[in-house]
Amino acid sequence: MHIPNRLLMGPGPSNVSPAVLKALAQPTIGHLDPAFQSLMEDVKEQLRRVFRTKNEMTFPISAPASLAMEAALVNLLEPGDTAIIAQNGVFGGRMADIAKRAGAKVVPLSFEWGKPVCPETVAETVQLHPEAKLLAFVHAETSTGVCSDAERLCSIAHDAGILSVVDTVTGLGGIPVNVDEWKADVVYSGTQKCLSVPPGLAPITFSERAIEAIKARRTQVQSWFCDLNLVLGYWSGTGGRSYHHTAPVNAIYGLHRGLSDLLEEGLEASWIRHRALHDRLADALQELGLEFLVDEAHRLPQLNTVLVPHDIDEAFVRAELLNKHDIEIGAGLGNLAGKVWRIGLMGQTARPESVERLVDMLGHVLTEAGRQAVA
Ligand code: PLP
Repeated sequence: MHIPNRLLMGPGPSNVSPAVLKALAQPTIGHLDPAFQSLMEDVKEQLRRVFRTKNEMTFPISAPASLAMEAALVNLLEPGDTAIIAQNGVFGGRMADIAKRAGAKVVPLSFEWGKPVCPETVAETVQLHPEAKLLAFVHAETSTGVCSDAERLCSIAHDAGILSVVDTVTGLGGIPVNVDEWKADVVYSGTQKCLSVPPGLAPITFSERAIEAIKARRTQVQSWFCDLNLVLGYWSGTGGRSYHHTAPVNAIYGLHRGLSDLLEEGLEASWIRHRALHDRLADALQELGLEFLVDEAHRLPQLNTVLVPHDIDEAFVRAELLNKHDIEIGAGLGNLAGKVWRIGLMGQTARPESVERLVDMLGHVLTEAGRQAVA
């Protein structure tokens, strides 16, 4: 098996530090071993600090982030419930799909791709649907590189007495996430973006209000694996732990190490680093004549969506960067396929040397692609 050493500047995964890789390679122990249980308690506490919450129900789901999305929605929604789901990219669409499959009536709220979710429109819609149980939205839309105002959107939901579900898969660690201050109800993320831990775990946190809503359900959660009541028998410290599934023990070692490193750097320092590297990248890309999809005020520093110039073969550029220079950048998704590149600056990848290497190589490849277009 030969694994190339790539600079990961796509929409995730981001590069993983040698320290996290070393942690992953420690000896596997039993998932009910007291030594592992104590590590689980540490990870829960670390996640509370990273999410900035006191929520007891804060833990990593053993799965990629899509399952945290699913767990949030299938635990809160019962057949016939109404869910207002804002969609300004691929991932809001995925939320709506999951909610429909859970039997909910979805009030779709679509916004132009490349624009944030509009709080005024959300507030009007919430007023028009007093029967709604929740408002769900994506804080950091990875498909477009847009940041929406999570604080404002959560406060609209809170004031209306409905629950909020926030996808911050790409946000956590890279931009401010303040679960308690926002009065958010269910917030989830993934490990492979700004936390720089390999994919496969999904941190999630539930407020007391969310737990009450789950306890008040009339029907059983239809997904056995996602049913919070069952998962917590394993992740909750109270009354001993019972087997639910075999936790990915080594993956949790890696998460523990990644979170320790992030907390040691400091959340604010990490946000500042992401912003500073974004500014550097944005200047350099503009010098190369490239333009951003998203207005400056709503750009995610960690996910830069750049318009492909009309005479350039976008797939050629990505392939050259990958095959000749070991640099991965992302293609457009959904409506934006073929129209944009998505350049990630997440976690460990957000370093000056990544920006320099990409800009250098991209300059060469664009010149080559331009020559081909003329020929
Ligand atoms: N939500 C957002 C905003 C994402 O960017 C992603 C993945 O890129 C997901 C959800 C799903 O995460 P995963 O691919 O880990 O299931």
